[in-house]
Amino acid sequence: MNSDSSPVMPNNGTNLIEVLTAQAAPKPFTYALPANMDAPRGQLVEVPLGSKKSFGVVLGPSSETIPAHKIKTIHALVDAPTLSPVMLDFILWVADYCMAPAGNILAMLLGGQSAQKNPKKERSAKKEAEHAPVQKPVLSAEQLSAANSLIATLGNFSVTLLDGVTGSGKTEVFCEAICAAMAQGKQCLLLLPEISLTTQIFSRLESRFGFAPILWHSGLTPAQRRNAWKAIAHGKAPMVIGARSALFLPFKNLGLIVVDEEHDGSYKQEEGVIYHARDMAVMRGKLENLPVILSSATPSLETMVNMQSKRYGHVTLPQRHGIAKPPHIHLIDLRQEKLTAKNWISPTLQQAMREAIARGEQALLFINRRGYAPLTLCRACGYRFQCPSCSSWLVEHRQDGKHRLNCHHCDYACAYPRACPSCKAEDKLAACGPGIERLAEEAKKLFPDARHAILASDTQNNLSEVQRIVDAMGKGEIDILIGTQIVAKGYHFPKLTVVGVIDADLGLQGGDLRAAERTFQLLYQVAGRSGRADDNGHVYLQTTQPQHAVMQNLKNHNRDGLMNVLVAEREKFSMPPFARLATLTLSGTNHATVTQAAHMLAQLIPEQAGFRVLGPAPAPMALLRGRHRQRFLIQSPKSAKMQAFMRTWLSKANLSKNIRLHIDIDPQSFG
Ligand SMILES: [Zn+2]
Ligand SMILES: [Zn+2]
Repeated sequence: MNSDSSPVMPNNGTNLIEVLTAQAAPKPFTYALPANMDAPRGQLVEVPLGSKKSFGVVLGPSSETIPAHKIKTIHALVDAPTLSPVMLDFILWVADYCMAPAGNILAMLLGGQSAQKNPKKERSAKKEAEHAPVQKPVLSAEQLSAANSLIATLGNFSVTLLDGVTGSGKTEVFCEAICAAMAQGKQCLLLLPEISLTTQIFSRLESRFGFAPILWHSGLTPAQRRNAWKAIAHGKAPMVIGARSALFLPFKNLGLIVVDEEHDGSYKQEEGVIYHARDMAVMRGKLENLPVILSSATPSLETMVNMQSKRYGHVTLPQRHGIAKPPHIHLIDLRQEKLTAKNWISPTLQQAMREAIARGEQALLFINRRGYAPLTLCRACGYRFQCPSCSSWLVEHRQDGKHRLNCHHCDYACAYPRACPSCKAEDKLAACGPGIERLAEEAKKLFPDARHAILASDTQNNLSEVQRIVDAMGKGEIDILIGTQIVAKGYHFPKLTVVGVIDADLGLQGGDLRAAERTFQLLYQVAGRSGRADDNGHVYLQTTQPQHAVMQNLKNHNRDGLMNVLVAEREKFSMPPFARLATLTLSGTNHATVTQAAHMLAQLIPEQAGFRVLGPAPAPMALLRGRHRQRFLIQSPKSAKMQAFMRTWLSKANLSKNIRLHIDIDPQSFG
């Protein structure tokens, strides 16, 4: 059966160990330990798994009774530091909270390294860190005082909201806390929502600290990944900057976690292990007894409520650093100022752009929609192009000379057709609404002499392309930048003075629980790109709902006013953070089977006071990547044990293998 299991171990439990393997198994496995080997709890090991190898971590002696011939022997000890008891607790806690297999959390800790290649045999290409002169920024009195408040939190668990308007210098302030923690011999982790942001902040931090921080994100090569991982695990990396998965790295001596732009939706991982990196960072801070700093100009409603109830500390930076002032916000009422057909840039916005460009300044046009047009229809019969695998319209794309229709939810794509597939009419297909490419076309027509660039999340995979455009914009080599939400994420463009938001109402559609909060955060962040070096930033919001609380509070720079309205609403309707939510989504390729399974599950809902289960109902994306989806929404009081309720419920279910379950505790989006 298994050649590795000889010699046969006596099954008396003394040299049997329990190993959590780094994959989705329902429980740890028992392995035999060779007589000459010692493997304490937390030791990383390489074990046989089926016909393959896997990494695992030793949990302790196993008391399982297994026939001797079925026991496999571990291959080798991994040459890495033992995981601390706290780290093991963290893995198990996250697994329990997110209702995910603990082995999947371990896989994140291992950073996607595969046991197929023994890391012991890898030659380390690690270079000595190069030291550059440290460049200390000059801090204002407010910044100094904020930095000192953060430094005072070092040493123990606490969560502090670092709250300051865009451009107030939050980065410089939390850098002081990072420096202080490193001076105490501790490692620091800075989480960023977007991997493209790491490169811009990297050089700033490098000159501040005098050495290059370690970067951790999905774009690393396997060799870079292994070297970074080792340095972190051995405590040789004092400072790590990373996207959300960096939170699971096995720091030897972690002393501070900073979550920058803590409100950002990218911190929620929606695939695989479904977790919120900000919330898990707070839990890691608690388990490891270290401070967590949440930084944002537009904190999430959850963080605001925690701050108001004094669970979180609050450090504010009231003013923009230097002479810069907040931008002027103008609402353009599209019911008054009508747009001409197939045009989306209003005359008022055009005028502002024209003046800015004439002064040698820059303009940014923002629309949160990739592609040329979000919908294509036939003017002869009304046919609309829909993805065959998703409940979604196909999006027209024209970039790179390839005229095509794409689904934004799966990889379906086809050439742009000449004729309508329904009525066969030719040349009757019409693009409906603008995407970023169509907006760029309009901008080019209006400003033919200006230098244009597009920054969309299409190009997101191509880091160097994003970097090139961001650099060019920073240097003033672009006059008009047309961007999707990627431009909202913390870039620093000193010569940008006019921002036009083409469809400010876009995010308010759909009635999502967080629609108003998210729209405010997004538009505020977009607006914050302007006028960062001077006080002449102007932001134009094109809206058909100028009286909406989001627009009015944006105009009046009244973030807290809007937050108070939203907090009161959430409390009134028993919504998070005043209650708990979870979603349970069933999916499968056969519509009838999924519906049947959902109705079977509905019969098994446990009776428990305080719990309310809504559904099953088709998910808003009722068909996604060829899978039909039915959903339950579970609501409970804040103090209730949501996971226990879910486990009781699901333990009674006997689902067919064709049905996939997707549990989302504290869901952020409901698509
Ligand atoms: Zn037609
Ligand atoms: Zn699709």
